[in-house]
Amino acid sequence: MLRISQRHLKILETCPRQFEQTFCDRLTLPMSPTQQSKTQLGSDFHLLMHQRELGLPIEPILAKSPQLNTWMQAMLQVAPELFAPNPQAWRQSEHVRTLEIGNYLFTAIYDLLILQPDCPKDRLRQRAEIIDWKTYPLPKYKKDLDLEWQTRLYLYLLAETSDYVPKQITFTYWFIQSAPQPKSVNINYTLKQHRQTQLDVLALLANLTTWLDANRAHQEPFPQVAASTGLCEHCHFAVRCDRQHLDDRSAASIDLSQIPAFPI
Ligand code: SF4
Repeated sequence: MLRISQRHLKILETCPRQFEQTFCDRLTLPMSPTQQSKTQLGSDFHLLMHQRELGLPIEPILAKSPQLNTWMQAMLQVAPELFAPNPQAWRQSEHVRTLEIGNYLFTAIYDLLILQPDCPKDRLRQRAEIIDWKTYPLPKYKKDLDLEWQTRLYLYLLAETSDYVPKQITFTYWFIQSAPQPKSVNINYTLKQHRQTQLDVLALLANLTTWLDANRAHQEPFPQVAASTGLCEHCHFAVRCDRQHLDDRSAASIDLSQIPAFPI
């Protein structure tokens, strides 16, 4: 059984050959020091929020990191309700959900999941909130966040593995580093979106199964994205795929910062 995350879906949809090289051939590039430092800070913030949810002391961490302390204070100021929870609500950080579809195991890890209690008199009061921390500013393409596979898969998995119907589920991204204060983007879910996600997931899986079988049986490579999309110009597999610009062939065309990606 193959584990599938939102990152797998995103790359598979973007370019099947990129999927093959990244996940089947396990080809990766080392991160630049700047990226490493940003990634580490992002991980530290997630750990901080997790530790806080577990009721463990976070003061020693905040005392050691002015940046984490600034972000924490900003969040407390902007969204105090997130940190003064309803005692009747169930909440858990780093909550893991899985869903088996055919030979694939879909996995999502929610930064924070809040489930409001069931209320027989008012079904709409029963709701689930998915919270996701992003330790970078709100991107300019925020209107497309509902199309990102992280949004779609996380909403889909929760609706499929719980009693919550799509209209009772929301997804909120918090962009901690936005100026002058953290900003959030709230995404509602509908039955129509749920059905569309299901169709798209099944279509991607059908293709993936075909490509994996052909690759295993005849070493047939996964299809490449059309060169006309322009994606190859910024892809670190351009040399392996023979898709680099003629002008670039004398120089290494590897620039991770230029790879279009929605960070995990
Ligand atoms: S260079 Fe182009 S075809 Fe090759 S993996 Fe990257 S995007 Fe896909």
